[in-house]
Amino acid sequence: MSAVYRGSRYYTTTSPRLVDRDNGKEGDMQAGGAGLCWPIYDTALQNGAEFMLNCKMTKIIRENGDRSGRVLGIEASFEGKTIYLRGTKAVFLGTGSWNSNPTLKQLFNPWLTKYPHVSGEPYVFNDGKGVELALDAGASLATDRGNDWHGWHRHPGSVWHSIDLPFGVPGTAEPLDSECIYVNAQGERFMNEEIGEHSPPWVGGSHPFHFAQLCAAQTVDKDGPVVWIILDEESRAKQGLEFTVGTIVEDSMYTVSETIEGLASKIGCKPETLLATVTRYNELVDKGADEDYHKQHLDAKIAQAPFHAIKWGIQKHNTLGGITINPKSQVLDWRLEPISGLYAAGECAGNMDLIGLAKPIVFGRIAAMTIAKEE
Ligand SMILES: Cc1cc2nc3c(=O)[nH]c(=O)nc-3n(C[C@H](O)[C@H](O)[C@H](O)COP(=O)(O)OP(=O)(O)OC[C@H]3O[C@@H](n4cnc5c(N)ncnc54)[C@H](O)[C@@H]3O)c2cc1C
Repeated sequence: MSAVYRGSRYYTTTSPRLVDRDNGKEGDMQAGGAGLCWPIYDTALQNGAEFMLNCKMTKIIRENGDRSGRVLGIEASFEGKTIYLRGTKAVFLGTGSWNSNPTLKQLFNPWLTKYPHVSGEPYVFNDGKGVELALDAGASLATDRGNDWHGWHRHPGSVWHSIDLPFGVPGTAEPLDSECIYVNAQGERFMNEEIGEHSPPWVGGSHPFHFAQLCAAQTVDKDGPVVWIILDEESRAKQGLEFTVGTIVEDSMYTVSETIEGLASKIGCKPETLLATVTRYNELVDKGADEDYHKQHLDAKIAQAPFHAIKWGIQKHNTLGGITINPKSQVLDWRLEPISGLYAAGECAGNMDLIGLAKPIVFGRIAAMTIAKEE
């Protein structure tokens, strides 16, 4: 991949940064998906592939119209018309996650239905229809990692959709867990702050999932669970953090005050509750032992004004679980028999226990190599 994609044509699911790659050129590729997709897109065009953008699959068609026949093609809507496309060798499904599909959410992980906000909307809207259509055609569903909905990420100060295009502020306002506390909408501490996606090995288990479960028990607002990070000026300065509203943090997700009581008023909890939380935490720091939540590193009191509150934007980036596939990327029915002519990879597919971009890349390639051998 030696082509230079400087100032890539489109932004990506991640922030619009240029990154260094191993082609020896400095900062010449767009971070994230565009850096992957555009070279592949260009190569496919050069090799005669045809793209029909804004073409939505509405049905998967099997031979003889029943669930035993080979998959022949799809029905789709394109430019206001219903069209039919025959797969010369097979039909491949790469329709992405079911993040925004209430039925599949309910099915895979009911408690997640209380989260209203999905990362990337409205620029990305993963309606899970590809999964639904595969089920209609006889596919089965598989979970990965016991229904773990991977993709829980914490973005301090940003919900990734309200400032700038697309996906909001980059969000580099992440304080060290040892230098801050998390409080809920009531101003109470409710967890060991070290249990998050960067948590140390002693925590064990699936960290983002565990974090999400802890937060799920808290009060939810329009953006999801309410979790405020509280730290003082000394910690902020020590870590070199900047909370510039509009570029680093969203205005609704950051506030600062000369007093803890003032901070409480600004984040909407009772001043006496937040004061009691901070006082208790400072006592624990003095003791050198977190008797309440067993945090291992208590490096800083919350004592020096001004005091900062940054709200976590807790995001579901991607899902696990989907259409059952086997190691050849063939879609399986509920008897775990391959459905002839139907393949899937990426987030719409389950059973192969990968996450994120590895899912479409690894099993998409395997599918392509297997389909090439189809008669
Ligand atoms: C904000 C954010 C940050 C992320 N960061 C990372 C990261 O750092 N690392 C990482 O590995 N992963 C990351 N991910 C996850 C990663 O982007 C996804 O796992 C990956 O893009 C999934 O690829 P996919 O091809 O399976 O699906 P998608 O990229 O979602 O593509 C599916 C495509 O199918 C189309 N489609 C859906 N239904 C139909 C239909 N019925 N007919 C026709 N087309 C249809 C959709 O429009 C879409 O274009 C992130 C995701 C988000 C949202």
